[in-house]
Amino acid sequence: MDHFLYRDGALHAEDVAISEIAAAVGTPFYVYSTATLTRHFKLFEEALSPLPHLVCFAMKSNANLAVIRTLAGLGAGMDVVSIGEYLKAKAAGVPGERIVFSGVGKTRADMRTALEGGIRQFNVESEPELLALNEVAVSLGLRAPITIRVNPDVDAKTHEKIATGKKENKFGIPISRARAVYAEAAALKGIEVVGIDVHIGSQLVDLEPFEQAYLKVAELTKLLRADGHDIRRLDLGGGLGIPYERSNAAPPLPLDYGAVIKRTVGDLGCEIEIEPGRLISGNAGLLVSEVIYVKSGEEREFLIVDAAMNDLVRPSMYGAHHDIVPVIEPAPGTETQPYDIVGPVCETGDTFAKQRPLPPLKAGDLIAFRSAGAYGAAMASEYNMRPLIPEVLVNGDQFAVIRARPTYDEMINRDTLPSWL
Ligand SMILES: *Cc1c(COP(=O)(O)O)cnc(C)c1O
Repeated sequence: MDHFLYRDGALHAEDVAISEIAAAVGTPFYVYSTATLTRHFKLFEEALSPLPHLVCFAMKSNANLAVIRTLAGLGAGMDVVSIGEYLKAKAAGVPGERIVFSGVGKTRADMRTALEGGIRQFNVESEPELLALNEVAVSLGLRAPITIRVNPDVDAKTHEKIATGKKENKFGIPISRARAVYAEAAALKGIEVVGIDVHIGSQLVDLEPFEQAYLKVAELTKLLRADGHDIRRLDLGGGLGIPYERSNAAPPLPLDYGAVIKRTVGDLGCEIEIEPGRLISGNAGLLVSEVIYVKSGEEREFLIVDAAMNDLVRPSMYGAHHDIVPVIEPAPGTETQPYDIVGPVCETGDTFAKQRPLPPLKAGDLIAFRSAGAYGAAMASEYNMRPLIPEVLVNGDQFAVIRARPTYDEMINRDTLPSWL
């Protein structure tokens, strides 16, 4: 459930009409709902209670400072995958002890910054990383709290670009090598083993792969404890999928996911961490765009809109579906017609949807892409010299721009000319 509903024939974000925001900030823009973010976060809190736990929002899904501050205010931790995200989490007021640091390519400089600034744990993804982290920690006279990310070799049954838990993927260490690597870690002066980490992929719409992976983690916990390691924390990753198509069967709810966690690892006495991104932010955001032209091709009608693949890359990158709705509610009984919805970028891949049934639309009408709060603004670029579009946060009857559109001068002046030109 989200808080983007029609009211008196017009799409609203909570109590604010989308058309009112469009008039104030211009299109295209992203709009997020505080009530929806809050609701989704609380679903995970409820799903994990009464186990001791920390829900760490995966910042890579939506790294806006105001979104991070909103979630941090509810008690969320953060899962960061770069030092930039770490610094942004800190800037949003998240204490270091609530930040977990994932990712296969942490540099020594990243490690130093996080160790000095405070960190809950590093989720270590390889032996070379483990050795580097030890060196950095020793040089600072510190011990780095770590989990090791194990790759459980389960098929997440999701899009190949976002499956991470198969043995051919670049993430984590093979679970079969875990005991050897934990033994290596325990012998390092700058390392403090605190638990185990696993993350098998994104947009999972079936609980079964989670169950398989978590059973393997439970078994490993017992083995590692028998080897003398203090396994007190389990980071179970993110990845629970969301309904991108309202007409499809709904993916499992956080409560069902929580039940799998309780059933598989709930009796180990560990603190549970999870790293949901998409499920918290995805359906808490819309991308709003204006129809520039309706173009009749030989065989089809194109809606040329002012948003493009650089603003929302998922359809072109993953073939992803986003529901698209008109901002003015169609009158009951309005006949739909199929449109190809495309952006202005000079690539055929700049297509949001093909033959999508929509009520008749004309130039100047507004449309909204649903489920755009995750991996939308976060993956945007300035391809074709298109400015990063504004992000807006709604809270009840208030709204605020939380990232402004840059001016063209600002964009141009970011480049510099060498002396010989
Ligand atoms: C991407 C990622 C997540 C979040 O995935 P979602 O599908 O957005 O829940 C969590 N943890 C790690 C390590 C990730 O790489």
